[in-house]
Amino acid sequence: MSAVISVDRRREFLVGSGVTRGIAVGRAHLLAPSELDVRQYTIERRDAVHEIGRLTTAFNVVREELDELKAGIAPGAPSEVLAFLDLHRLILADALLTDAPRDLIRGRLINAEWALTIQLEELVKQFDAIDDEYLRERSTDVRQVVERVINALAGGRPTRVAITKPLALGERLILIAEDLAPADVLHLRGRADVDLAGFVTELGGPTSHTAILARSLGLPAVVGAERARSIIQEGDLVVIDADFDAVIVNPSDDELKAFGRRVRDEGEHRIQLRKLKGRMSRTKDAIAIELLANIELPEDARDALEAGADGIGLFRSEFLFMDRDELPSEDEQYAAYATVARVMKGKPVVIRTLDIGADKVLNETARESLGMGRGAPRPESNPALGLRAIRYCLAYPELFLTQLRAILRASEVGTVRILIPMLAHMHEVEQALSFVARAKEQLRERKQKFDGRIQIGGMVEVPAAALSVPQFVGRLKFLSIGTNDLIQYTLAIDRADSSVAHLYDHLHPAVLRLISQTIKGCIKARVPVSVCGELAGELEMTELLLGMGLRQFSMHPSQILLVKERLFELSTKDAARLAARVLRESDPTKIKAALVRASRSKSA
Ligand code: PEP
Ligand code: MG
Repeated sequence: MSAVISVDRRREFLVGSGVTRGIAVGRAHLLAPSELDVRQYTIERRDAVHEIGRLTTAFNVVREELDELKAGIAPGAPSEVLAFLDLHRLILADALLTDAPRDLIRGRLINAEWALTIQLEELVKQFDAIDDEYLRERSTDVRQVVERVINALAGGRPTRVAITKPLALGERLILIAEDLAPADVLHLRGRADVDLAGFVTELGGPTSHTAILARSLGLPAVVGAERARSIIQEGDLVVIDADFDAVIVNPSDDELKAFGRRVRDEGEHRIQLRKLKGRMSRTKDAIAIELLANIELPEDARDALEAGADGIGLFRSEFLFMDRDELPSEDEQYAAYATVARVMKGKPVVIRTLDIGADKVLNETARESLGMGRGAPRPESNPALGLRAIRYCLAYPELFLTQLRAILRASEVGTVRILIPMLAHMHEVEQALSFVARAKEQLRERKQKFDGRIQIGGMVEVPAAALSVPQFVGRLKFLSIGTNDLIQYTLAIDRADSSVAHLYDHLHPAVLRLISQTIKGCIKARVPVSVCGELAGELEMTELLLGMGLRQFSMHPSQILLVKERLFELSTKDAARLAARVLRESDPTKIKAALVRASRSKSA
């Protein structure tokens, strides 16, 4: 969603989605619209070979440019940078893009540009029909590659970014575009005469490759800022405030000074935070707190370590299963889990078993490979309430056993724990435990090693689980509160549905009581408990969760040092008083006010 709030004639304020934290100040450079506006004409049959030759040359020019960009990447650059260039190289080499336009030139006797756009539209249509948001967004990559070929056909360099007006000495550049290809960003980053501060695009969501690239390069950017190119003019002074998803055009002098101060403060704060990395996390009254990381892929374990995490509190293993036709084998899974265990060097690694279902779906082909099982018919009417997580695993025993064997084998190389998602019934706990026992038996028969004392824990994500803590702790070695789902299921709000997003309230007293009750139940039974939903990384919630008795927080690695810093300022006694006050309160607005007050008094 995007909106424009006009403050005065010159100064404008736009919002989109910030994809990197931070502020960037620079002069705007507008890129021409990327809509493919190509000449279309028919050709004589005898010219078909020449036309195909033009196309081949254009493909070669683009390939060479991508290779040049790749060769120019500095050692140690983020791995995504290479990955994006490789992806565009792959698209460029795909027969769907190279062969089909040639056939169109020969068959319909049309020029190369026209043939290319016909094929592009065909491919985009196929992408649009894909359910998966990530894959759907890849049509942007195809469009970007085609655009480069069309630019090359016109005799130019494939890169669209031409900076004609020189910038004043010391001035930085902010690119304003409808959309940007990763290669455009890289091209600009590589130019000695241009200091790219950030970019604003009208299209694109936070999962687009360009957004991911911006994040990994640490470039502040705002995507999805509608009408940016009609509001911002060439040479305007622009501030990207990615922390607040905002773009400010022609700020006043006072505003500029304030931004300058924030940039300096944030820089200094980052340096201070890094100093905390090696320090044990504890409160002002010296109570030790474990700060763990949530990861999605094995590669993320390095970020966790880099952020000084005490371990992995949640490895969302389902990401190994998504976006692919063939499900990962036991060996492939083992390699992934063992990698994380090794990277974490003995620190605990909690691997959550497959949480597939709801918004995280397997590919059609992957689903078919599982057979019908006891699967619910597709499409489900209520996927979040359907066959998800442990329910899915219990419906497909082979899938579950394969994963359990892989995790068990990885327990040989580190401190690995198993976490079962979305438990609601005691009989699901029992079944999950007997599956683990069966997987152990199978490994024993194969004479494969594993940690026989591996701990099995469960997630508290539905109210039934929160209300069953006394029973669950009798059979499970630890619990982890998944507040993202606990809020969804307590308030009956689909967490992915923007039309009810305003009702998704983490401060609803019922949600807070369930969290508090779960923590208390675990403390009473002396069973470790963590929070691994987004709340664990929200600074505003740190004191409240601490006051409820929480001693293990698991969050995105980027939040760890910030939460650690906050904990140094908190005392468990004050926190307990705050929690008691909040839990007595029934009005979420008053709860919010109390937390903001408490949080401000710490950051002041
Ligand atoms: C949660 O529900 O809070 C959780 C951590 O699981 P996910 O976000 O993966 O559903
Ligand atoms: Mg969940």
